[in-house]
Amino acid sequence: MASNSICYDLHCHSTASDGALSPAALVRLAAQQKVDVLALTDHDSTAGLAEAATTAAETGIRFIPGIEISVTWQKRLIHIVGLGIDESYNELQNGLVRLREDRRQRAAAIGERFAKIGMAEVYERACELAGDVVSRSHFAMALVEQKAAKDIQQAFRKYLQKGKRCYVASEWSSLEEALGWINGAGGQAVVAHPARYNMNRTLMNAFLEEFGGLGGVGIEVSCSSHSAPQAELMADFAEAHGLLASVGSDFHSPDTSWAKLGVTHPLPERCRPIWQDWALDSI
Ligand code: AMP
Ligand code: MN
Ligand code: MN
Ligand code: MN
Repeated sequence: MASNSICYDLHCHSTASDGALSPAALVRLAAQQKVDVLALTDHDSTAGLAEAATTAAETGIRFIPGIEISVTWQKRLIHIVGLGIDESYNELQNGLVRLREDRRQRAAAIGERFAKIGMAEVYERACELAGDVVSRSHFAMALVEQKAAKDIQQAFRKYLQKGKRCYVASEWSSLEEALGWINGAGGQAVVAHPARYNMNRTLMNAFLEEFGGLGGVGIEVSCSSHSAPQAELMADFAEAHGLLASVGSDFHSPDTSWAKLGVTHPLPERCRPIWQDWALDSI
C-alpha cells in the first residue's frame, strides 16, 4: 500500500498540554524518527501549534494542526481529535477557554481530595508542572516526583482513575459542541483511541451513529493503546459506519515505553485512510 511508505503520526502531545517535550523538541524528535506527516493534538489547547509549525517547516516535516477535545457522552469521557483545524476560529477558542477553566476547577477539587489525606503538596506541584492546561497527568507526575507512586501508571491506579480516592468527575463539552467546533474550524473530527472506552458493540454502534450524524468522519484504528485484534475490530467499525481510519502514537514522553513517536502499526488494507483526500504537496 502506498501509504506504508509515508510515516503518519496524527496524535501526540507537547508541553502545551500534558506532554514532556516542547512543541519544537517534539517536532525535532519526529524528524529523527522519520515521521513524514505529523499532527500535534494537545488536550483542549492550540497553544503549541505555531511553534510546531515553524519547526516543522525547518525540518521538512509536513505539519497538520490538531487538537484533542475532552467530551462527555452518556457520562463517559471521550476524546475527539480534530485534524487540519484553523485555530483562529473563534467558537473553537471560546470552547477551549471554557474547557481549560473546567480543568482548573476540577484540579482544585482533586487538590481538596489530596489535602484530606494529608497530601496537599501534590496539588501545589501539579499546578507548577502544568501550564495553561492542568491535567490528571500533572498530578501523576507530582506523585512520582514525591515518591507516592513508582510511575505514572501506578499514580493513576492508586489515586487518579475513576473509582479511586482522588478521582473527581467533570462534565466536559458535549459531542455536538466538539464536532461543531472542529467542523467550524474546517477540520476533520476523529474518535481518539476508541477501544479504550470499554463500550460493548451496541453502545459503540450507537455512539458512532451519533458521531457520524453530527459530522464526525474518522476513528483511530491504529494507535498505541490498541492491540492488533482491537485495531481489526475498529477497522470493522470504520467500515460498518463509513468512517475513515486514522493512526496516532498518542506520544506524551520519551520515557513512556509503549507509545513512541511515529511508531504505529500500518492500517489494515481494507481501511480508507483519513488522509485519502489530503493534498500533501500543499501542506
Ligand atoms: P485528564 O484529561 O486530565 O482527565 O487526564 C487524562 C490524561 O491522563 C490522558 O490524556 C493520559 O495522558 C493520561 N492517562 C489517563 N489514564 C492513564 C493511565 N491509566 N495511565 C497513564 N496515563 C493515563
Ligand atoms: Mn494526555
Ligand atoms: Mn486521549
Ligand atoms: Mn492523546
